[in-house]
Formats: sequence, structure tokens, C-alpha cells
Amino acid sequence: MTQPIFNRIAIIGIGLIGSSIARAVREHSLAKHIAVADASDAHRAQAQELGLGDSVHGDAAEAVQDADLVMLCVPLGANAAVASHISAALKKGAVVSDVGSCKQAVIRDVAPHLPTGVHLVPGHPVAGTEHSGPRAGFAALFRNRWCILTPESGTDAAAVEKMKSFWAAFGSKVEMMEPRHHDLVLAITSHVPHLIAYNIVGTADDLEAVTESEVIKYSAGGFRDFTRIAASDPTMWRDVFLNNREAVLEMLGRFTEDLIALQRSIRWGEGDELFNLFTRTRAIRRAIIDAGQETAAPDFGRQSPDQGAEITDPAKPKAD
Ligand code: NAP
Repeated sequence: MTQPIFNRIAIIGIGLIGSSIARAVREHSLAKHIAVADASDAHRAQAQELGLGDSVHGDAAEAVQDADLVMLCVPLGANAAVASHISAALKKGAVVSDVGSCKQAVIRDVAPHLPTGVHLVPGHPVAGTEHSGPRAGFAALFRNRWCILTPESGTDAAAVEKMKSFWAAFGSKVEMMEPRHHDLVLAITSHVPHLIAYNIVGTADDLEAVTESEVIKYSAGGFRDFTRIAASDPTMWRDVFLNNREAVLEMLGRFTEDLIALQRSIRWGEGDELFNLFTRTRAIRRAIIDAGQETAAPDFGRQSPDQGAEITDPAKPKAD
């Protein structure tokens, strides 16, 4: 059992990520008191029922009173309003962190609201599933996964060390990164792939020559994997694309050029070009498996919705 790193942790937003953090904090005894806040009545009721917090609040400012760590686990688009609302209630010396999928936007939206003496250490656990809600979370979500911390230079060193220990206690591998670089890396590894999945599933849905039942019936040939990603939370992903616009557009430009090159290879029957690319990409897949970044184990975020976990309301699934 680990020693508590914080006396009181406030988790704002008790969805998939916030509830997984609450469970992991409890499992590893990282705090003496877990205060949970959420805007949703239903999610607060579930948090009570599941015992995710020692106290459950409708008002985030109440939850952060006397907290040593405040974890913002709300959609990116809600960060500015939440930060502004809790600002006056934050304790001097508190660490404010988050889990948002884009980091420059979090710094832009949160930092201006923090009083002097409160330390911002933004973070992004590169872990998730396409499911939502407090029931979908699980303590092992972060085990063996990366957590990227992006504090600005000059951030209080003790606060950064605490956050490193916090994520390491969950079994995460912690990496430090410049916020801008984080956004570029995640644009190509996560954001553009999600956009491609949304697009291909949308295109198939629009096809008139192929019926919807055929799309579902013959989905084994690669399409099915895209549908898992394309089932990701609409709010979360809308906010990702609105908040990482430049990096996504940059990567999308390169992707489009490469796609046109592939189109030309197919048109001109350049089999060697296709074969060489597919050989190179197969090696990348093998490298991912060798690096331990893919397994059927539940801690790799591929857990099926069991224990009554919400595949929530079908309009609200998600993924990392
Ligand atoms: P989620 O399941 O939708 O949880 C967010 C929770 O915050 C919901 O209960 C939501 O209530 C609540 N909320 C929204 N606005 C709020 C506000 N102003 N004040 C208090 N609570 C509020 O989302 P999530 O998947 O946990 O994602 C949360 C963050 O984690 C996002 O920033 C996302 O970028 C990041 N992230 C997600 C993943 C992933 O795979 N899901 C992975 C890594 C990082 P309502 O449902 O009523 O809106």
C-alpha cells in the first residue's frame, strides 16, 4: 500500500476518466479524502452509489475547498468555466491538474484563472475506452499506459514531482513533454485516426449502393475496428478538434498528400509501392506489440462493458 500523496483530492467530472482516477486513488490509498463534483445529477447519484468519493458535490467550488490536488476531468470545452468558478476557493499551495487530450488549450483556458501560489501541472493519460460514465471507469485503466505531463518551465518542482508520483502509483509510465509537441504527437497518433474513423463510417453510412444491413453484416473486413473508434464520445471529440486545430490540420495535410500518392499507385498499378508501404506499416504494428502497447488485457482500455457499465447512452460513447 502506498502512502497518501495528498490529504484531499477533488475530482471535477466523474465520467470515464474521473471515475477511473477515483477508483485508482482509493485502491492505492493516495488520498485521505476524495471529493467528487459533477454537473450531472445522474452521474452524482452513480458516484454515490458506487462509493467513488468520500463526499459528492454539485458545486465544484465546494469540492475544491481545502483540496491539495484538484483534477479537472471535464470535457475540454468546460475547463475555462470550471477554472473560473473554482478559482476563489482554491487553497494556496494546491496543485491543479487535468486529463485533457490537448494541452495548449488547457493552459490557455485554465492558467489565467489560477491565483498566485496555486500550481498548474497539466497531464494527459493516454488511456481510455469508447465507453462513458462513472460505471465505465476502472482502476486498472492507467496501468502500463503513458501519462504525459506538460508543465510550463518555471512550474513549482515539488508540484511536478507529486504529479509524477501520483501517476506512477497507478502503474503509469510518466513522460514530460512541451505542450505544443504533445499536441502534434497526439494529432497523428490519436486525433487524425479518430477523424479518419468518423469519416469512413460516415461515408459507408451515406452510400446508397450498399445497404446498412450489408455494412453491418460484412463489417469483419476492417470496418468493424473503425466503428469502435467512431463510437467515441461526440462532445469529447468535438472539443478535441476545436482545441487542437493547427496540429490536426498540419497532420491532415500530410495524410492527404500520402493518400493521393497511394491513389496514384493504385491507378498506375504500382504494386511495389503498395507492397513496400504495407511491409513498413506491418513492422510498426509489430513494434507496438513488442513495446507492450497492445494486449487483450482489460488494462489496455479494451474492456467490454460488463458489470452493467454504461455503453451509456448510445449518443455518448468515447475513446482515447
Ligand atoms: P465524460 O465521461 O463525459 O466525463 C466528464 C464528466 O464531466 C461528465 O460526467 C460530465 O457530465 C461532467 N461535466 C461536464 N461539464 C461539467 C462542468 N462544467 N462541471 C462539472 N462536471 C461537468 O468524459 P471523459 O471521457 O471522462 O473525458 C474527460 C476528459 O478526459 C476530457 O477532457 C478528455 O479529453 C480526457 N480524456 C478522455 C479519454 C477517453 O478515452 N475518454 C482519454 C484521455 C483523456 P455530463 O455527462 O452531464 O456532461
